[in-house]
Amino acid sequence: ERTEFVSYFHQIIDRFEMNIPEHITLQRDLPRGKYLVWLDKDKMTQVLDNIISNAIKYSPEGGTIQLKVESNRHHLLVSIQDQGMGIAYDKLERIFERFYRADKARTRKLGGTGLGLAIAKELVEVHHGKIWAKSMEGKGTTIFFTLPLMNKKWRGDR
Ligand code: ATP
Ligand code: MG
Repeated sequence: ERTEFVSYFHQIIDRFEMNIPEHITLQRDLPRGKYLVWLDKDKMTQVLDNIISNAIKYSPEGGTIQLKVESNRHHLLVSIQDQGMGIAYDKLERIFERFYRADKARTRKLGGTGLGLAIAKELVEVHHGKIWAKSMEGKGTTIFFTLPLMNKKWRGDR
C-alpha cells in the first residue's frame, strides 16, 4: 500500500523506544518532508525489526544507534548504524546468507539462527530495493537499504 515512509518509520522507532534496554540510545536523523513509497507493511516491519534488533543485540553498553533516511530523486536510502563489535571484512558479504553467523564463538551466547538478514534481504527485494552493509571491526556496522520513491504523478496531490 502507498505509505508515507518517514511517519511510518517514526512509528516503528517509537515502538522500539518502549522496550529498549536502558543503556542504548536511538538517534533519529529523519527528514521533515513527505516521501511516498509502496510498502507491504507487514514485510517492511519485519525488515526493520530484524535490522534494528541486530543493532541492539550487537551494541555495546551505552551504545547509540543512528536511524537515518536520505533521498535522491528516485530512491530513499535508509540506514541503521550501530557502534557494536563490527563484522570482519571477509565475512561481510556472507551475512545476508541463510543461517550464516559471522562469529560463532561471540554470537552463540547472544542467540539467534542466522536467518534475520536473509529474510530482510528477501523482503527488501520484494520492494524492488537493494540492501548492503558496511562495517569496521571494533567500530560498528551500518546496514543500508533503498526503496524506490513513488512517482509524483501517482501522488494525486495536485
Ligand atoms: P537471528 O536474526 O536469526 O535471530 P542472527 O542475528 O545471528 O540470528 P542475522 O540477523 O541474519 O542472524 O545476522 C547474521 C550474522 O551477521 C549475525 O550472526 C552476526 O554475526 C552478524 N551481524 C548482523 N548484524 C550485526 C551487527 N549489527 N553487528 C555485528 N554483527 C552483526
Ligand atoms: Mg538477527
